[in-house]
Amino acid sequence: SNIPKIVILGAGYGGILTAQRLQKELKYNEADVTLVNRHDYHYITTHLHMPAAGTDTIEHSRVPISKLIDEFKIDLVKSTVKEIRVQEKKVILEDGLLTYDYLVIGLGGEPETFGIRGMKEHAMTIRSINSVRMIREHVEYQFALYKNDRRESRLNFVVGGAGFSGIEFVAELADRIPVLCREFDVDPNRVNIYNVEAAPTALPGFDPELVEYAMDVLKRKGVTFRIGVPIKECLPDGVIVGEGEKIQAQTIVWTGGIRGNHIIEDAGFEVMRGRVKVDEFLRAPGYDHIFIIGDNSLFFNPEGRPYPPTAQIAMQQGVTCARNVVAAIRRRQPHKFVFSNKGTVASLGKGEAVAVVGGRKMKGWTAAQLKKIVDMRYLFIIGGIPLVLKKGRFF
Ligand code: FAD
Repeated sequence: SNIPKIVILGAGYGGILTAQRLQKELKYNEADVTLVNRHDYHYITTHLHMPAAGTDTIEHSRVPISKLIDEFKIDLVKSTVKEIRVQEKKVILEDGLLTYDYLVIGLGGEPETFGIRGMKEHAMTIRSINSVRMIREHVEYQFALYKNDRRESRLNFVVGGAGFSGIEFVAELADRIPVLCREFDVDPNRVNIYNVEAAPTALPGFDPELVEYAMDVLKRKGVTFRIGVPIKECLPDGVIVGEGEKIQAQTIVWTGGIRGNHIIEDAGFEVMRGRVKVDEFLRAPGYDHIFIIGDNSLFFNPEGRPYPPTAQIAMQQGVTCARNVVAAIRRRQPHKFVFSNKGTVASLGKGEAVAVVGGRKMKGWTAAQLKKIVDMRYLFIIGGIPLVLKKGRFF
């Protein structure tokens, strides 16, 4: 048939929004849409720090994709993308092949370890349901092991990176530790949580007053900060920091950086840290029929600086991307992508958060409520009231 084929790679924030908008805007038989994702569920990445620490269930952080899209309108393919062949307009999957007329790439990021020795091998990362399960089980197991071998390093936890995901995870871990201490009869004074950051401040780029507030909250919860201290090497039993000091720890979680997806580099696109600088319509340079969104793309603000990769921008790009694919099929003018910043919230564990919304600073309980509203708003956008009731955290 000569119905155009649209293939969307990745059912993350960008991919899901693209798919949902396409199924709404396309007319019957106007295009064939295929959505490819490694898992048959979508994960709510912005929640993952909670199940990683064990302060929430895994099930609150994922949704079956079949509940989010209309499978009469979109073909869902559960598979892993191995390669994109742009010249042949083909996508190679682990177990098959797809051809496309229009391609949307939203495969999300990968951890960036900046070449720190041992980091890839010995540190865990918060990036998927599977990696989150590892962290959660590992942390708990250290308590069980400690009760048998009394190795102090089992009670030391190192989080590399004090950006948004690092801070949010450290906060949950600090909330979780007292619970584990009670469960395993461990003296809480023996436990150490280190948050190590190479930059001169935690939450670089965020409001300094709120950064100070956030650090105070976390220090009170027992977190030891090592700010302006680079991790030089990661070992199976600790990290070497600064001038050669070793922090003994059996648990190392790296949140220090993310980059684009290696599949994009391998496809031959020009990249900066694995991300493609897209044009104002979200297209890959030189390709009118390839759109790149979310953590895989690099989009510059009017001052010429790239926006940080967030769920917020990925979702908004998904909406514009869908409109532009439809416009291309109908031979209409594409729409420019304009980011509308709804603000930033960082959760600091139970009942605490910091936020900047519309230039206004918020902290404490009010900011924590805002975080919940942001989360529920997302659930509402992708799944309506039923999803909010099913996955929302109301307390
Ligand atoms: P993703 O949401 O990462 O989705 C990519 C999808 O592609 C996934 O479903 C994945 O399984 C799939 N995939 C990957 N590779 C393949 C392959 N080879 N084959 C098939 N499928 C594949 N942002 C915010 O705005 N606010 C927050 O509060 C916030 N908190 C965060 C907290 C944590 C702990 C983390 C890790 C991130 C947080 N972020 C937050 C960032 C946000 O999650 C990302 O920017 C966002 O998920 C990017 O969306 P995306 O669509 O580009 O990719």
